[in-house]
Amino acid sequence: MSQAHRPLREQTALVTGASSGIGAAVARALAAAGAALAVNYSGQREPAERLADEIVQGGGQALSIQADVSDEQAVERMMRETVERFGRLDILVANAGLQRDAAFVDMTLADWQRVIDVNLTGQFLCCRAAVRQFLQQADRPELSRARGKIICMSSVHEIIPWAGHVNYAASKGGVLMLMKSLAQELAPQRIRVNGIAPGAIRTPINRAAWETDEALQRLLALIPHGRIGEPEDIGKAAVWLASDDSDYVNGASLFVDGGMTLYPGFEDNG
Ligand code: NAD
Repeated sequence: MSQAHRPLREQTALVTGASSGIGAAVARALAAAGAALAVNYSGQREPAERLADEIVQGGGQALSIQADVSDEQAVERMMRETVERFGRLDILVANAGLQRDAAFVDMTLADWQRVIDVNLTGQFLCCRAAVRQFLQQADRPELSRARGKIICMSSVHEIIPWAGHVNYAASKGGVLMLMKSLAQELAPQRIRVNGIAPGAIRTPINRAAWETDEALQRLLALIPHGRIGEPEDIGKAAVWLASDDSDYVNGASLFVDGGMTLYPGFEDNG
């Protein structure tokens, strides 16, 4: 692994939902920046193990850990396994998320509940476990000015309403205020909590939106920057938010969306 710019050296990061898409790219980017990686997965064991192997082959340290982030006991176990292996936790990226789309009148309570359980309660459980760990371990100001860093993976739908996806949009709106309230509560402890709000990123979660040329053209009309985002775009933002380069940033939601939240429909005077 290159010795060049490794702002996260000797730090440990846990990325949830890291077996695919954004989580996998974030785990790779944090590892390249020097962090030891706990690669969480829920159902997809093989890709998570392959990713952990890839990081180790590249000269880093990594461990894959199964846990459903909506399960309190599983999250507590995941944290114990991370700390047993690496000795501590410095960075949490609460990324795991899913969609269960339906027109509102057809949405079942199970569709609503599962999305809230994973996307919002899952972040609560992971953040709580991480903060408890940050507060009980030794501070190392020579490696990180903050005592711990949390990045909540949100979405542009924390502010853009999304018909047909009310469970998802409600969960991300919740993530925004979870993130900000936590940042306010924990700032005196020098724990930084920020969010990333991705726009349209090319991953399995939104395959239908980019898989065909027709769908992609429709999507691009919403993106002033003229291209779909790649998972690596989010990986770079996560490295910055996890490092001392962003030490004075706390409670912020960083939109990485090619301008989607600039409301391009108003570009020609609405
Ligand atoms: P993805 O489907 O590739 O990744 C989601 C990951 O979460 C998967 O690895 C999945 O196995 C995991 N997961 C689902 N339920 C879980 C659970 N209960 N416990 C642990 N892991 C679980 O999609 P993605 O696009 O990489 O999504 C990652 C995050 O980014 C999500 O929170 C999503 O809402 C957010 N996001 C994605 C986009 C986009 O355009 N792709 C845009 C905005 C926000």
